[in-house]
Amino acid sequence: MARLIDSGPGCPTPTPLRAATAAEARGLAYDDEVKEKTDHLYPLVNDFITPMEWPAVAPLVAAINDLKAEKNAVILAHNYMTPDIFRLVGDFRGDSLQLAREAANVDADVIVQAGVHFMAETSKILAPSKTVLISSLEAGCSLASSITGPDVRLIKERYPDYPVVTYVNTTADVKAECHITCTSSNAAQVVEAVAKEWNTDTVILVPDQYLAKNVAAQTNIRIITWPGACEVHELFSADDVDALREAHPGVVILAHPECPPDVLESADFAGSTAALANYVKDESPAKVVLLTECSMSDNVASENPGVDFVRPCNLCPHMKQITLENILECLQEMKHEVTIDEDVRVQAKAAIDAMLALPKMANPLAFETGLKPMDIEVISPN
Ligand code: SF4
Repeated sequence: MARLIDSGPGCPTPTPLRAATAAEARGLAYDDEVKEKTDHLYPLVNDFITPMEWPAVAPLVAAINDLKAEKNAVILAHNYMTPDIFRLVGDFRGDSLQLAREAANVDADVIVQAGVHFMAETSKILAPSKTVLISSLEAGCSLASSITGPDVRLIKERYPDYPVVTYVNTTADVKAECHITCTSSNAAQVVEAVAKEWNTDTVILVPDQYLAKNVAAQTNIRIITWPGACEVHELFSADDVDALREAHPGVVILAHPECPPDVLESADFAGSTAALANYVKDESPAKVVLLTECSMSDNVASENPGVDFVRPCNLCPHMKQITLENILECLQEMKHEVTIDEDVRVQAKAAIDAMLALPKMANPLAFETGLKPMDIEVISPN
C-alpha cells in the first residue's frame, strides 16, 4: 500500500523556514528593492507560501533572478520541483523531454537544471557548448541507478537480435549503449517504430519494468524488460485507487505509467506528466487525483484553480534535494558542473536523436486504462 496522505493544499516541505535561515545567513533582506522585484510574483505561489512566510522566500528569489541576468543563465524546472522553484525562478517548465529540447535551443551560456542528475546529463548531451550545473549532487534517481552501461552491454550480448530502447531516465553511459531512447509520452510509438526498423516482433525496453509492462499492454510487440522501478510510483497500488474512490466519490483518477499495471487497470486516464497536465486543463474535472509525485499536483493545481485536487503524497526524495538555497549557491559559485566524456556524449546523443527523428506527435500518447496486466520477461541482472 502506498504512503497515501491527503495532504491538503501543498506538501509539508518547510521551504520558508529553510529560506529564512538561508536568506539571513547571506545578509539578504526583504527590503524595498526586493519587494519591487518580487511582490508581483507572490500570487503565483499564494496557495503554497503564506503572506507571513513570503518575506523569507522573496530575497532568495530576487537574488537568483539577478544572478541569472548577470550570468546569462536559465533554470530548467521539472514538474516535480516545489512551486517556489517551479513558478518563481524556473524559466522553462515541463517534463524531462520538454526541458532537454529547451536546453538544446535556448540562447544562454549557463543552464541550471532544477531536476535530477540524469536530466542535467541529457541537457549537456544536447547542449555541449553550454555550462550545465546541478545544484545538488544528491539529486539521483532510483530508476537511473538501477542499470549501468556494462549491464546494457551484457543484455546486447544475451539478446543480439533485438533492439534496446532506454527510457530517458538513465545515465549518459546507459543511453550511449542503447539504440534509441523513449519517454513516457512516446514509449509505445518508439517501440513500434524500432521493431519495424529491425524487422522484429521483440524489443527490449529498460530499465523501468512497470513502464515496460504498461507499454506491452498497449502494443502487439513482445517486450523484454529490466527489474528497475521508480521508488515514487511503484508505491501506488490498485487498493489505493479503490480507497480513493471510496473516500472521494466521483473523483477522476489519473496515473503515471511508471505505476504498476494494476493501477493503470483501475485508473480513469494514464499518461506522461505532460499528458496528465493536459487532461486536467482540457477536461476540467470537478475533483481529480494525480497518482504521481506530490509537487506535480501542487504545480498543476496552481494552473487550474477551478479543479479540486485530492493530493496523494509520495515525494521523490531525490527531486526534493533541489532547493532555492542550493540553486542560489550553485549560481554564485558556478559549482557542480556536469561533464560527460565526449565519446559517450556523442553515442548517447545518437540514441536521443533517433527518438527525435520520429514523427512528432501533436499530443503525448495516452495509455489505455482498464487493460488486464500482462506478464512479460524480466531480465535477471546476474
Ligand atoms: S520520481 Fe522516480 S523516476 Fe523521477 S527522479 Fe524520482 S525516483 Fe527517479
